[in-house]
Amino acid sequence: MTAVESHSPSPSPPVWQAVIGLEIHVQLNTRSKVFATEASGFQKNPNQHVSSISLAHPGALPSINQECLQLAVLMGLATNCKIHQHCHFARKNYFYPDLPKGYQLSQDQTPICYEGKLSFPLQDGSSSTIRIHQIHIEEDAGKSIHDQHPSQTFIDLNRAGVGLIEIVTEPDLRTAIQAGAAVAEIRRIVRYLGVSDGNMETGNLRCDANVSIMPVGNKEFGTRVEIKNINSISHVIKAIEHEIDRQIQWVEAGNSVIQETRTWNVDLQRTQPMRDKETADDYRYFPEPDLLPVFISDEDILASKARIPPLPAERFIRYHHTYGLPLNESMALIEDRTFSDYFESLLDLNQTPKASANWLLGSVRAHLNEHQLSIDEFVLQPAQLNTIIELIQSGQITHHAAKEQLLPAMIKQPQTAALELARELDLLIESKQNELEAAMDRLIEKFPNETARYRSGKKKLLGFFVGQLMREFKGKADPKEVNQVVRTKLHS
Ligand code: ADP
Ligand code: MG
Repeated sequence: MTAVESHSPSPSPPVWQAVIGLEIHVQLNTRSKVFATEASGFQKNPNQHVSSISLAHPGALPSINQECLQLAVLMGLATNCKIHQHCHFARKNYFYPDLPKGYQLSQDQTPICYEGKLSFPLQDGSSSTIRIHQIHIEEDAGKSIHDQHPSQTFIDLNRAGVGLIEIVTEPDLRTAIQAGAAVAEIRRIVRYLGVSDGNMETGNLRCDANVSIMPVGNKEFGTRVEIKNINSISHVIKAIEHEIDRQIQWVEAGNSVIQETRTWNVDLQRTQPMRDKETADDYRYFPEPDLLPVFISDEDILASKARIPPLPAERFIRYHHTYGLPLNESMALIEDRTFSDYFESLLDLNQTPKASANWLLGSVRAHLNEHQLSIDEFVLQPAQLNTIIELIQSGQITHHAAKEQLLPAMIKQPQTAALELARELDLLIESKQNELEAAMDRLIEKFPNETARYRSGKKKLLGFFVGQLMREFKGKADPKEVNQVVRTKLHS
């Protein structure tokens, strides 16, 4: 446990320990909404896709989108949750302008997934674990738009009824950095599973952080404050850090923390009050009478399990600990599933993690960045990139020539084989042992003084001969081989 130092000089100030739990809303990547059939994706015009079901007009009957159930189960299995195979929906009653129904369809007693556990890597290469309290399905609300009119608020209901899962963790985190790493892992997982695009900037993944403090050594947690809708990982870290400091100062000044909801003000870099926290009683949950209970069969669960690829945390451990790749490279490789999959395909072909990682994170990534491409848009398949790696490993081409000339040429002409291109560009290392030896014999004759000085101890002259010999082969001899020949000849 990391202690948070106290800031003010009160008589015997306790050392404070922060406690953090997360609630993460993830927009499900389905074509239609969760209880209605209108489109759920981005819409050009406001209020373009809003049905009587999403507005809860009298007599309109919701029905559950099966794909939402599957995505929620996928997420639950990927985070080691148990599944409520019999579950139902409940109305969560509250009034809000962008929720014209007056209630949100959610789950109360039977969240679809519960009691999970998730391990995730930290920046220092160690890992941490957080328990998942539950994952439930609910519908999103619409959007209130405040910036289009000086005194009026506009409502856009395109988002009302879009399927969400809410992932609720136990209060197991102790630092802002850990919380940031946990959100990063959840974002990677939803992307790996295709559950959501996980984009925090556009609100597809929204994080609420609950923060409290207690004196180190206490068993009982302090009163928590909820910071709503934080929209990037760096803001998660900054908002929590700020909130911990604020609570410490507040408590040390003799006050007590009240349970409330705050927002993170990016411009002012501080949290500020939003509203008092509702309690569960305020919501008057009751079972939704218009929806049938859901049953998820054993077969459904097995089918979902089969859809889960190796997950990022597992890949990270393999890359960093088994293959010995540096921390930052291992993290960079797992960030995106298609990128990691490409790396895995390369490894299947060459079993050399270091060279594969270097190529992908170096030249290939530079090319992708320069042209704003993703790895699935890269013209070279893993097998093609691998031929370049093989040409280097078999000593047929230097790394430098491969990087500077062969790779760019292959990207321009992906249909031509690497070896053929290397030949056309005259990049193949031609040195043969005999030719090198003969050339070195000639050099020894041509430079008798240098030879004698080398032999009498002026070892620096080795470089002179290597240079001369490389020049004879116009740089296309293998430097290692050249070195070897020069040494053997000078010592004989
Ligand atoms: P509610 O039902 O009112 O939303 P929960 O007990 O379900 O409250 O907790 C909601 C979130 O707050 C969870 O993410 C949980 O981990 C977190 N949490 C609960 N108690 C604390 C606490 N004392 N300090 C920090 N986070 C907490
Ligand atoms: Mg809650």
